[in-house]
Amino acid sequence: MTMKIDLHSHTYYSDGHLSPAELVLRAHQMQLDVLAITDHDTTQALAEARHAQAQEKRHLEIISGIELTTRWHGFDIHILGLHFDEHDEQLQQRLLEQTRTRVDRARQICVKLAKCGIENVFDDAMVKVGQGQITRAHIAQVLLERGEVSSFQGAFTKYLGKDKRAFVSAQWIDIATAIQWIHEAGGVAAIAHPASYDMKTKWLKRLLSEFKSLGGDGMEVTHPNMQPTKKELLAKLALEYDLKAVVGSDFHFPSRWSELGKRLDISAKLTPLWQDWPCLASFNKEYL
Ligand code: AMP
Ligand code: MN
Ligand code: MN
Ligand code: MN
Repeated sequence: MTMKIDLHSHTYYSDGHLSPAELVLRAHQMQLDVLAITDHDTTQALAEARHAQAQEKRHLEIISGIELTTRWHGFDIHILGLHFDEHDEQLQQRLLEQTRTRVDRARQICVKLAKCGIENVFDDAMVKVGQGQITRAHIAQVLLERGEVSSFQGAFTKYLGKDKRAFVSAQWIDIATAIQWIHEAGGVAAIAHPASYDMKTKWLKRLLSEFKSLGGDGMEVTHPNMQPTKKELLAKLALEYDLKAVVGSDFHFPSRWSELGKRLDISAKLTPLWQDWPCLASFNKEYL
């Protein structure tokens, strides 16, 4: 028996489409054994997910998670926090800072959109957000529904992407701070989707080297649709910089391209970040 694990997923508390209960149900349908919920800058989904899981007969180990947004040399770098105490009061206080940054940035984006003749996007986006974190995905959805763009992706290429008409560079925390927040809440920190930052390999190496020297623990090494050559490069880099391996689908909603727990196998040379988590001890005995 092998363990099916996915350590990167979203709910509607950030830019995912499913509720925490729906995500848990989906994880069961996909035969997952372990699921980390890693919403952007919030842990709100975890309590509801655990509550939903408590009603289920089939076992699913839910791991606390978060995807922290940081700023590094002009890049928005996402850092996954995993296996920490989600009730840590200090962490929750610190996250309020990221919420403020998100709301401030969204307001500034909407000011820029208004200058392009697209008015009052902020209020419409906040209706979609509900109690969760506002993301550019919410703003993109409003632009799509208003017919200002013809596709979700188009909202990024025309307005929201880096250096486009309504792009705002936010005051995110730095990488060292993200690692510190996660470690002080008892968790481990990993670079999310290192292959998707649109940076040259030289810069990626610089990022991984700095992350490691700041005490970072791991990096994602695969993604459901990743080319084999990319996978090989990431495995090589994980070994070179002594970072443990994280696997996750970055699931936001079911689609032809994205699903929980699919095609996430990794090279046997890599050390899984989860190998010494006590909650997975019985699985790891068989899996490793
Ligand atoms: P934010 O964290 O608010 O900057 O929003 C980032 C989220 O928007 C990402 O997690 C993606 O889900 C989505 N996103 C960012 N860039 C793009 C893009 N170019 N195309 C489609 N979705 C994007
Ligand atoms: Mn997202
Ligand atoms: Mn991300
Ligand atoms: Mn993500």
